[in-house]
Amino acid sequence: MSDPVVKGWCPGAHRPMVSGDGLLVRVRPWLGTLSDFELRGLAELATQFGNGTVDATSRANLQIRGVAEGRLPSVLEGLDALGLLDPDDGSEARRNIILDPFRAEDDPQIRISQALADALRGAEYVDLPNKFGFVLDTGCRPRVLAKVSGDIRVESNARGLLVRADGAPAGRPVEDPEDAVGVALALARWFLASGGVGADGRGRMAQHLASGAKLPADLIGTEMPAPEAPRPEPGPRAGGLAVGAAFGQFTAAQLTRIADALAPGGALRVTPFGLLFLTEPPAHDVLSGSDLITAPGDPLLRIAACVGAPGCEQGEIATRQIARRLATRLPGRIRAHVSGCAKGCAWPGKADLTLVGRAGRFDLVREGTARDVPERRGLSHADLEQLFGP
Ligand code: SF4
Repeated sequence: MSDPVVKGWCPGAHRPMVSGDGLLVRVRPWLGTLSDFELRGLAELATQFGNGTVDATSRANLQIRGVAEGRLPSVLEGLDALGLLDPDDGSEARRNIILDPFRAEDDPQIRISQALADALRGAEYVDLPNKFGFVLDTGCRPRVLAKVSGDIRVESNARGLLVRADGAPAGRPVEDPEDAVGVALALARWFLASGGVGADGRGRMAQHLASGAKLPADLIGTEMPAPEAPRPEPGPRAGGLAVGAAFGQFTAAQLTRIADALAPGGALRVTPFGLLFLTEPPAHDVLSGSDLITAPGDPLLRIAACVGAPGCEQGEIATRQIARRLATRLPGRIRAHVSGCAKGCAWPGKADLTLVGRAGRFDLVREGTARDVPERRGLSHADLEQLFGP
């Protein structure tokens, strides 16, 4: 087994990534939000030029799968017509900002996000690593984005807003959204100036701090952010409805169904949890029969599985068929992960049970990640049937 390739950059629309099933074209909705018109248009592009599937990613983006190289110009043209395309690759990559999808309409993170996106187009931020990102989690209640990857976090507690470098336990209090933008950008500039970016162009804030970099006095504080909320599940919440699909992968037909279900004036927000949030609850029967998950507790929610082989070039085995079978057999509250290779894209953290593809078979890790030492190696499908039941 060769080591999985770490590419160190995220695909975009201008810079798609090659995968086993064609190009991955990742779309970054403005403010993480789509109208019914935009969602329907995206579904049509996925049907016409891709393989008809769209992933909801852990960066709260939507990713059209299976685009042939020659069809990319048509996809970009379509995205541009929908108003979903950044002017260029650089500004697309730097607009790496995740908002709380369950925010109130008047939450300050809208202003913060717009101001950050404008400022990050500036030449002084051009050297930020491709994966460097901002997380806006300012709802003044338990933080839903606490486990979502990001380098600079704008958060809140009962006393107000704070800005925190990822990896630092506490943040610096700020007066208002404008102040938050100023401090967040100052942190980004400090990261660049203090050697946060390696010779390979990569670097993350938490690693930089862990390696001994010291934040300047005017960028640190002692304000602790609000406590963490549990991982959101599908179902009604915050006045709307969160819907999921198996493994965070939606079909174009499901997206069209969701677009039809959006109430007038409602919008769709993309979450980093593989869920889509409709800001106005639709009549439930509109989504029934669509295979969408609209309530908590579905067994498929307890199992993560990447696209695996043959959809991913690095996949050493097919993943989702076995994951579906496993989901119905797992007892109680066991959380499982089926990974096509040791990279573990679908669930970077620990799971109770992880199956890792290796040369057409599975290695089994208990209470660990896809990269940990397996308890058993080289399991066939028949071995798994024996372990977990037919
Ligand atoms: S974990 Fe899955 S998606 Fe990630 S590289 Fe391996 S096979 Fe591909």
